[in-house]
Amino acid sequence: MFTDSHCHLYKEYYENLDSIIEDSIKQKVNRFINNGCDKLSNIEVLEGIKLYDNMYGTLGIHPENVDSYTREDLKFIEDNLANPKIIAIGEIGLDYHYSKENKDKQINLLELQLQMAEKYHIPVVIHSREATLDTINSLKKYKVKGVIHSFSGSLETAREYLKMGYLLGVNGVITFKNANIKEVIKEIPLDKIVLETDSPYLTPEPFRGKQNNPSHIIDIAKFVADLKGISLEELAHITNQNIENLFKKIQDN
Ligand SMILES: [Zn+2]
Repeated sequence: MFTDSHCHLYKEYYENLDSIIEDSIKQKVNRFINNGCDKLSNIEVLEGIKLYDNMYGTLGIHPENVDSYTREDLKFIEDNLANPKIIAIGEIGLDYHYSKENKDKQINLLELQLQMAEKYHIPVVIHSREATLDTINSLKKYKVKGVIHSFSGSLETAREYLKMGYLLGVNGVITFKNANIKEVIKEIPLDKIVLETDSPYLTPEPFRGKQNNPSHIIDIAKFVADLKGISLEELAHITNQNIENLFKKIQDN
């Protein structure tokens, strides 16, 4: 059985979440880490983990919401960190793809949440797009562990994150033709990798173009198992262990 370590299972994307979850379990994906991005999705994550036994959540303000979040939204995250099924602060980070103009605001928002993670000894889920150096600079300031979700950088960058104690999230991008990440992941030890779909985005081949859902972990897993020359069972075992080692609350539940 596999875990989808990073997805966004919100009502705005999925009309019938019950059936998405049922189908995924049939495809041997039986644990879901639902990531919040803003005030409303954080509330939904809290509802989801109440509803589904095998769902865990993360709460955070994504960099794309840097201009709309409020202090109360951060307080809301802090107030809910003691929930036994809230396992990390995320999705948080830096994204300079669309705009670099609000760089300082993004860094400030990221560091406020890293501070919170350090204070409450809870891991983080990091989004970093076209912002590697600033991300590494911010992460280095705090004693926090976590996942670099949707990792797509160079081998050198990967090693830098591993040295800092982070795991790398591998998703459908690895199945795309010409994806450089294949060569990088080949070199990365298996105990540093977790699998994720980032549903509803980044649908793996051969389903690219359709809406993603957690059952597609299997298509990513097949690809990674092949790349690494191991069985699917072995890959499931190791990646689940990686998740449980990082997100301690998953074991306690
Ligand atoms: Zn995401």
